[in-house]
Amino acid sequence: MKGRLVLRGDDGYEEARVGRVFNARRPDRFPAAVLDAVDADDVVAGARLAVERGWGISIRSGGHSWAAWSVRDDALLIDLGALRSIEYDEATGIVAAGPATTGALELAPFLADRGRAFPVGHCATVGIGGFLLQGGQGWNGRARGWACESVVAVDVVTADGALVRADATQNADLYWAARGAGPGFPGIVTRFHLQTYAEPPVMWQDTWTFRLDDAEAVVHWLHRVLPHLDRRVEPVMAATRLTDVPLYDGIEHPGGTLLLLHTTCMADSDDEALTLLGALGDCPVLGRELGHVTGPTSVAQESVAQTGQNPEDHRYAVDCAWTDASADVLAPLLLDIWRGLDTEHSFSIWYGWAPTRPLPDMAFSVEGNVYVATYLVYRDEADDERYQTRVHEQTAAIARDGGVGVYLGDTDFTRRQDRFLAPGHYARLEAVRAERDPTGRIASYLTADRAGLNVHA
Ligand SMILES: Cc1cc2nc3c(=O)[nH]c(=O)nc-3n(C[C@H](O)[C@H](O)[C@H](O)COP(=O)(O)OP(=O)(O)OC[C@H]3O[C@@H](n4cnc5c(N)ncnc54)[C@H](O)[C@@H]3O)c2cc1C
Repeated sequence: MKGRLVLRGDDGYEEARVGRVFNARRPDRFPAAVLDAVDADDVVAGARLAVERGWGISIRSGGHSWAAWSVRDDALLIDLGALRSIEYDEATGIVAAGPATTGALELAPFLADRGRAFPVGHCATVGIGGFLLQGGQGWNGRARGWACESVVAVDVVTADGALVRADATQNADLYWAARGAGPGFPGIVTRFHLQTYAEPPVMWQDTWTFRLDDAEAVVHWLHRVLPHLDRRVEPVMAATRLTDVPLYDGIEHPGGTLLLLHTTCMADSDDEALTLLGALGDCPVLGRELGHVTGPTSVAQESVAQTGQNPEDHRYAVDCAWTDASADVLAPLLLDIWRGLDTEHSFSIWYGWAPTRPLPDMAFSVEGNVYVATYLVYRDEADDERYQTRVHEQTAAIARDGGVGVYLGDTDFTRRQDRFLAPGHYARLEAVRAERDPTGRIASYLTADRAGLNVHA
């Protein structure tokens, strides 16, 4: 192996174990060893070493799993942090990228220089590895679909250490699973091949700042508008305590939590973007807003705001739910969450996803009208239990009435489980796993209750 192998007890083990985990709430789980792979051959060698030693295998690309899925007891943790090369084929528009490539920081600018685009994640530092395997909710996602829908092939090291290509014509079972299985994928992806698109000529943003007192009216109105909204328009409500929000001249931030309605839109021209955003022009509480800005933006600019909301070196307790609930049901539950936010960076979003559309044949299979996700962000270890209990109980309340399931990206199944794949898809994935990794060498879903996996809450 060319990469460094650090055994438990060696110098540098702790840094290798959790140094690249984004969430500062680090787990008490201890791999047998960590391999910092430098290329696909190293990954093959690592997989074979694990077979030889009888170790399990866990995988890390960007390290952004909230629950630190990569850190597993007694496994060989194969860290793919060095696999971040990007190559573009002009003839096909396909880009090949290593799994630790960051979406908005590395992939998006690389493509923009070539007039191309890909629905990269909203937060700049997320690795494409975990992001794509679990679905990938990115910029322009309502129009472009889940980012994994644009995966055309993956290079995979199998559980027994063979490097194979999986696409629609070869190893099609792995290709199917690579689009939605997330941490249940029975292989190690060393490279993604992604279909890119012509970069939309313009991106616009439109942001309104409201008091929480007006939130109920805004939620009801958005539920009325959403089913008819052009898919290029992406409305997100975010309850935030950050003070850097649009405010009219002379208006002071009243303190506490405010509600932002932040809508982005990619379009062919400024005029078209303005027309599309105009569909959100009849908000019933217009005139009561504290601020409003609209104008051209870019993925790079939007990522700066996302990074500000998701600081490093903080502890995060996170949960999410897809819901088809009506505004009558949802609004009071959202307000309960939003009124309870009590740290500077904690936030909670309502992401309008409807109308849903038929999905291609891939593992990913659960989505709903609206995506609700809550991120409690704090610094003190003593608050871990309190914030985890709160976020999972409040999200469970949303899941109870009209909940459809969860998106793997914002879950922690050691605390709360729900359905993430359609039942038939889950059974098919289990069959792929049994065939491809019969001894269960590659760490699967991290859960406190295996029998409760993919059970609809
Ligand atoms: C600040 C922040 C913002 C986020 N924003 C978004 C967003 O906008 N949209 C969105 O969809 N999600 C978002 N997420 C969720 C994120 O996409 C997931 O946590 C994802 O798993 C992170 O991928 P990663 O490679 O960085 O994580 P890692 O922790 O490295 O990987 C997570 C797990 O995925 C599996 N895995 C990763 N890479 C491979 C591979 N190469 N081969 C096989 N299995 C692999 C492994 O089981 C691994 O343990 C965000 C997360 C954070 C922390």
